[in-house]
Amino acid sequence: MAIQRIAVLTSGGDSPGMNAAIRAVVRTGLARGLEVYGVRHGYQGLVDGEFIPMDSVSVSDMIQRGGTGLFTARSKDFMTEEGFHRALMMLESFKIDGLIVIGGDGSLRGALDLAKNGIAVAGLPGTIDNDLAYTDYTIGFDTAVNTAVSAIGNLRDTSSAHGMVTIVELMGRHCGDIALFAGIASGGDIIVVPEKEYDMDDICRQVVEGHNAGKLHCLIIVAEGAPFSCAEIREAIQERTGMESRITVLGHVQRGGSPSAFDRLLASRLGAYGVDALAEGKKAIAVGIRNNEIFDMDLAEALEMKRPERTELIRLGEILR
Ligand code: ATP
Repeated sequence: MAIQRIAVLTSGGDSPGMNAAIRAVVRTGLARGLEVYGVRHGYQGLVDGEFIPMDSVSVSDMIQRGGTGLFTARSKDFMTEEGFHRALMMLESFKIDGLIVIGGDGSLRGALDLAKNGIAVAGLPGTIDNDLAYTDYTIGFDTAVNTAVSAIGNLRDTSSAHGMVTIVELMGRHCGDIALFAGIASGGDIIVVPEKEYDMDDICRQVVEGHNAGKLHCLIIVAEGAPFSCAEIREAIQERTGMESRITVLGHVQRGGSPSAFDRLLASRLGAYGVDALAEGKKAIAVGIRNNEIFDMDLAEALEMKRPERTELIRLGEILR
């Protein structure tokens, strides 16, 4: 039987572009003659029954906004047996035939649990971390990289003016993509990511070599989950070279802001595709982008995939420094 009513929610950490995805889901659904509900506060809203009917106007003036108009949450209740069954019951009582979940790894695992219990779901990658292996890009990653590049540009000015070593911590506990992409795009001198092992002596030697070669600044870009923390790097540089450094932790600045054109377009394409796929009868899928093609695959398989090695980019960062 053809689906009649779908719902959409955003879950986990918010990311710029989630609004563009919600908008695309709502308007594609309406264009297909479906009823569309928004669920507020992610999985917590499923548990609590926070379903709101969406019309075209409810998603106007939002494509340019960061955050998420449906709000998000990290829901402990949803992880309990009781909460999970309440969520299933709510989906049934609101007669939802298909659910679009926009979020990161944890959110898509939650979507898989729902799928295993008979709910048709389409998971969309919404996280600034770019840590979902099945897709080339996640919604919000490009904006976060651009925010970081802009901030690093400001830091470079003051770093050069003072001839100081600048250490910048960017988000990414397990995945160094923000640091790697922003580091290369900013012309960073040293990029430190969780995917690689480093020797502190090497890092210090590179700082001294840059200085001796006449560089006015030294920019060290460090991912949150890198093998060395910013404080450890600063201490080692101070001890082994006598040079002073300044640490800037960019933090949640990277989460907010108006989404880039890339993220708006990506989110719009993923959102529309997700609705089309549910309307075609697909049941448990992850929607992503690969080689600029939007595609879907089995959700369980998508979550099993291993992230690509970043050997080429890591090497590029080292050559271009
Ligand atoms: P981000 O990458 O931005 O942190 P995320 O989606 O990974 O986003 P999480 O906090 O890990 O963020 O997950 C969001 C919510 O999804 C959790 O609060 C929880 O309700 C649900 N969830 C997380 N992990 C699982 C899991 N393994 N199984 C079922 N549900 C989960």
